[in-house]
Amino acid sequence: MFANGLSYLAIPGPSVMPERVLRAMHRAAPNIYTGELHDVTRSLIPDLKSVAGTAHNVAIYIANGHGVWEAALSNVIGAGDTVLVLATGRFCVGWGEMAEGLGATVETLDFGDSDAVDLAQVEAALRADTEGRIKAVLTVLVDTSTGVLNDIKGVRAAMDAAGHDALLMCDCIASLGCDEYRMDDWGVDITVAASQKGLMTPPGIGFVWFNDKADAVRGTISQVSRYWDWRPRVNADEYWKFFDGTAPTHHIYGLREALDMIAEEGLEAIWARHAGLARAIWAAIDVWSSDGPMEINVADEAARSRAVTSLKLDEGQGDALRAWCEDKMGVTLGIGLGRTPASAYFRLGHMGHVNGHMVLGFLGTIDTGLKALDIPHGRGAMEAASNVLADLSRG
Ligand SMILES: *Cc1c(COP(=O)(O)O)cnc(C)c1O
Repeated sequence: MFANGLSYLAIPGPSVMPERVLRAMHRAAPNIYTGELHDVTRSLIPDLKSVAGTAHNVAIYIANGHGVWEAALSNVIGAGDTVLVLATGRFCVGWGEMAEGLGATVETLDFGDSDAVDLAQVEAALRADTEGRIKAVLTVLVDTSTGVLNDIKGVRAAMDAAGHDALLMCDCIASLGCDEYRMDDWGVDITVAASQKGLMTPPGIGFVWFNDKADAVRGTISQVSRYWDWRPRVNADEYWKFFDGTAPTHHIYGLREALDMIAEEGLEAIWARHAGLARAIWAAIDVWSSDGPMEINVADEAARSRAVTSLKLDEGQGDALRAWCEDKMGVTLGIGLGRTPASAYFRLGHMGHVNGHMVLGFLGTIDTGLKALDIPHGRGAMEAASNVLADLSRG
């Protein structure tokens, strides 16, 4: 009824694509053999490193997040190796399954679906590994299924306290360029991310950042699948080695524009924007949840992502609300992922190209949908959200 007009995608990836990125991609196919495309590709490298907070290496792959999960593992994990998965939702478990597919043994510390990694348990598990079997610790900055944000710097501190020298591998696919992340400062050895979330570019290219310690481990692996091998990609004296074939031409132009936008705003300002918008979202949710079935998945604010939020209603109501918002108002909310009953859950993506009026728009849509569907909820959520943004905007 009210859906015609600009539609809005509030799912946790792919995220909203800026007009600037779309326009940068709207062009004829470029020459891939020589010229501008090569220069633009090379220009991405320093900017990608700075987004991840590393001075080390980055390899670009034509792949989504699942692809770079496997790319990263393939360089350091072989059959018979053991990895420790720090599970705070579906996604780190999925990364572990990828390791299993490569013949690794997976040990899992499961922290449930609403809590961050418990650092004391990580330290204890590593201390107990007196034979040094655990070769890598797999963790996520943000688990997109639960909205849990993990303390990655703390994970490294726990590893150090246990005196364990496993590699620390971190999945930042959900939240690079949204939630604060500092690969080198926090002691992460390998980071993975993909183009379609905080990096505001269509799905299809992914990245693996790795330091010299990780590359030394790469040197001990006898067989690395040719396509995933990161070495030829980072020392690419021939352009082809970046991609092992045809370059992802339009993604390169799109990403160039997105990285320019990130540089113009500045990473710290971007983190602050996401944090402020998340506070407005949480304020609205506090009011809705004060009466009726709504619950935010992560109670502890310190363990909440600023890029994605997972919410629960009663069975069937999550699906009904999503359908209402899309059909009646042109706003698409994210499905509940990996939770039961799935029809109770929904998620909000607020990552990348998102500002105050976009957030107020989807919050207002949800507020209206709760009313229209007669789902009991506390009244005044929009007032609470606008108060937060008004206060923060005063600086
Ligand atoms: C989206 C996401 C993935 C999977 O990425 P795809 O591009 O869908 O394969 C993995 N991990 C996290 C944390 C994600 O948010």
